[in-house]
Amino acid sequence: MSITTNLKEIQKQIPEEVRLVAVSKYHSVDDIREAYNAGQRIFGESKAQELIAKHEELPQEDIQWHFIGHLQSNKIKYIAPFISLIHSVDTFRLLKNINKEAKKEGRIIPCLLQLHIADEDTKYGFSFTECKDMLKEGKWKELKNVKITGVMGMATFTEDENLVKSEFKALKDFFSEIQKEFFTTNEDFTEISMGMSQDYSIAIKEGSTLIRVGSKIFGERIY
Ligand SMILES: *Cc1c(COP(=O)(O)O)cnc(C)c1O
Repeated sequence: MSITTNLKEIQKQIPEEVRLVAVSKYHSVDDIREAYNAGQRIFGESKAQELIAKHEELPQEDIQWHFIGHLQSNKIKYIAPFISLIHSVDTFRLLKNINKEAKKEGRIIPCLLQLHIADEDTKYGFSFTECKDMLKEGKWKELKNVKITGVMGMATFTEDENLVKSEFKALKDFFSEIQKEFFTTNEDFTEISMGMSQDYSIAIKEGSTLIRVGSKIFGERIY
């Protein structure tokens, strides 16, 4: 199977309102170019250095780069000039630091709040309680160079579809809850980033608006 075929296959399965982030981490610029030539425009990367190098080599006019990994504050400045969406904001401090770099660039950077929804403790993200506490505190409202546009989560890596489904449902419910409580005046608070190669079909059924698919498009990653 080629990258082009894989992309077409996935596009066929997803409704119009769901956008596909092609997760290209660890894959070459040539692979990304193939996906680009097949019409893909949103790419996700999880390491700042790798993202910067790829951004430089690939068409700059119409690719939207999404950052999906754990972001270190000292790396923000390198991606701030061009990043389209940061999926992985997991502390208020990080949000504040993104705001600072965005301000230097004269930009407003869209960000998602990453929630810890999995039954595993290896993954980053706010707990639901931590996230609500942060929102209640209210300091985020003073950050004029970031815009919170939704939430992101990763389900447990398991064959147990019911568990995955319940985790995605919990994220969707949390999204609706904080939307009502904190974001009624923000019409851009619309994104629920959930679903990867293994579980994007379940995620779409549970209300995902952005799926992040890597290996199902590009093949296995070689680390
Ligand atoms: C790597 C990664 C993906 C893509 O994973 P696949 O299983 O290859 O689809 C999605 N989301 C995040 C946050 C990732 O780090």
